[in-house]
Amino acid sequence: MMGSSDISAPQADSIPVTTLKGVGAKMAERLARLDILTVQDLLFHLPVRYQDRTRLVAIGELLPGMAVSVHGEVRHTEVKFGRRRMLLSSISDGTGTLVLRFFHFGAAQKASLARGAKLCCFGEVREGVNSLEMIHPEYRLLEQGKAAPAEQHLTPVYRVTEGVHQLTLRSLVEQALEYLKNGAITERLPPELRERFGLPALDEALAYVHRPPKDAALDMLAERCHPAQQRLAFEELLAHHLTLRKLRSVMQHQPAPQLKGTARLTGQFLEQLPFSITAAQQRVWKEIRQDLAHAFPMQRLVQGDVGSGKTIVAVLAALQAVEAGFQAAIMAPTELLAEQHFINFRHWLTPLGLEVAWLSGQLKAAERKEMLAALSSGRAHLVVGTHALFQEQVMFDRLGLVIIDEQHRFGVHQRLALREKGGSDGGYPHQLIMTATPIPRTLAMTAYADLDVSVIDELPPGRTPVSTVAVPDSRRDEVIERVGAACREGRQAYWVCTLVEESEALAAQAAEDTAAMLSETLSGLSIGLVHGRMKPQQRAPVMSAFKAGEIDLLVATTVIEVGVDVPNASLMIIENPERLGLAQLHQLRGRVGRGSRESSCVLMYHGSLSEAAHQRLAVLRESGDGFVIAQKDLELRGPGDVLGTRQTGMLQFRIADLQRDREMLPEVARAAELLLEEDPQQVTPLVERWIGERSQYGGV
Ligand code: ADP
Ligand code: MG
Repeated sequence: MMGSSDISAPQADSIPVTTLKGVGAKMAERLARLDILTVQDLLFHLPVRYQDRTRLVAIGELLPGMAVSVHGEVRHTEVKFGRRRMLLSSISDGTGTLVLRFFHFGAAQKASLARGAKLCCFGEVREGVNSLEMIHPEYRLLEQGKAAPAEQHLTPVYRVTEGVHQLTLRSLVEQALEYLKNGAITERLPPELRERFGLPALDEALAYVHRPPKDAALDMLAERCHPAQQRLAFEELLAHHLTLRKLRSVMQHQPAPQLKGTARLTGQFLEQLPFSITAAQQRVWKEIRQDLAHAFPMQRLVQGDVGSGKTIVAVLAALQAVEAGFQAAIMAPTELLAEQHFINFRHWLTPLGLEVAWLSGQLKAAERKEMLAALSSGRAHLVVGTHALFQEQVMFDRLGLVIIDEQHRFGVHQRLALREKGGSDGGYPHQLIMTATPIPRTLAMTAYADLDVSVIDELPPGRTPVSTVAVPDSRRDEVIERVGAACREGRQAYWVCTLVEESEALAAQAAEDTAAMLSETLSGLSIGLVHGRMKPQQRAPVMSAFKAGEIDLLVATTVIEVGVDVPNASLMIIENPERLGLAQLHQLRGRVGRGSRESSCVLMYHGSLSEAAHQRLAVLRESGDGFVIAQKDLELRGPGDVLGTRQTGMLQFRIADLQRDREMLPEVARAAELLLEEDPQQVTPLVERWIGERSQYGGV
């Protein structure tokens, strides 16, 4: 029986693929490109889909879109010369005729498909010119008078690479399954846990997904919701969850400076603010204040919708570090946002007698040298910058706190790299991560299991909701007129140019052209331009003029997406919104509605919208709540896009899917709890099996 693993059996993770028949040094090298080094890796190289070759379908019953096996006899074969040379062969089984079309073929192939030859072929049926056809089907010739043996299992389709074909992988997996039968994979989930969550045994699940029986439910397998697949997905999610938990626990055993605040600076700062902070800001600030006083590094994520006032919380945290005699670094994902933070921090903190340094990739050598010296000597209390802060030459006197704004743009590894900048005596710096991408709670539990999460769930008072409309760009003239009228009334507006390609050069060009066009049409207005290709020295004066109200209309690329804060701006036009994700549009729109004035956002789409695009834009029209929008975004696009770069680090799954399997997530967290308590020695092998080398993030 399967499921009883023999402890003495050789374990699949220590059997190199070269042990298998047909794998020499060359093949091993190619397999390594698929991260397959051992028999275990092969068993966890899961099919991406399946084909059903177990049933023969009569040609007369074929429909376009089917992927099936048929038998037939060649009636006619010819080479056609059209735009491309091709081989056409029509076959029949008495119920109908099917054309096989080949673009790559040799003389021998043509000869083998002579009239009267009998074939078994597998392929996808499509509508041809005069009849149904298959393009480049897989086929083999049948010997006269002999029936072809039908396949007994559904056929798995694997991810392949150059030099490793489907057939190669299938035959290697076949061999690996023999090892599996002999107990080469150890079950890591204790029986009680499997029972509690209704999970089949691992070896049974693996055998099933590689060789589903012919009566298996193909649609269930395609959706990856068969219990065998769910068992694997569960284990994979568990492995990821445990990795993040481990990362967190390792961090909690590292030393960090205890940043006990005196309230000297934070008190002064709060006093000089023209408003009082919201209850939510207060609550989150309190959580941070307590974390900073611990002797191990804080790892806290602050989520707060656009405009919820995360920056104030960041300033408070930074001031507590300074009160305790340490430095703080604030990092933002774009030049423009970093610049805005720098201007704000300097404005708020210079009166408190603090020196704020600025570090971006675009500093002149002399300025840079000066900044680096200010940081390493400890003269600068704070530094604001971009990812330039990661660079090796950047050294601190006593770095106590790292604040990362808009976390979804940075990967986990980058965050971990900054941690290494802590002073050697004081241990690792505390980390505060701020994001405006509100992630639904269950997803956050998995994606951020290494972090504590605080939510600023309240907007400052007096905000007016932004009314949003979608209009086709055939009404551009009307929109321009409206912008002109609004600006003449003393309102300020953004005009955002977007592009499909993430090419800042093309986007910059589009913004330049639009600015020129608008300047011509709206000649009485003062029009500014910012884009990612401008130097900070060119951009900064435009931004401050806009802030000061000297510019009426600011034409920009999506560089203004994050952080830009000009409360008097109350109108935004977004061109081609259908090209952007909902979360990004919500971010952009968050630039308006910051003052007390009624604000509006015009989504000016190009051409006619698809049904899906309609739906997406409707979500924005109907909701201003980042959490609702994020949930919809997740449903419409999947978590990869919603989580951004973080996804490309830790969260690459073989079989699990955060959206499809979201109901499992709370159970996965509970299972992790149980496993850590009752069978902790299973954790490391479990993680290695699924994540392997990737679990080595940050040297953990
Ligand atoms: P975000 O969370 O999007 O980063 P910001 O920190 O940029 O938001 O804050 C948005 C705007 O709201 C800023 O102009 C900020 O000064 C203002 N603000 C922050 N907190 C409050 C508050 N408690 N009351 C009034 N205005 C606030
Ligand atoms: Mg912000």
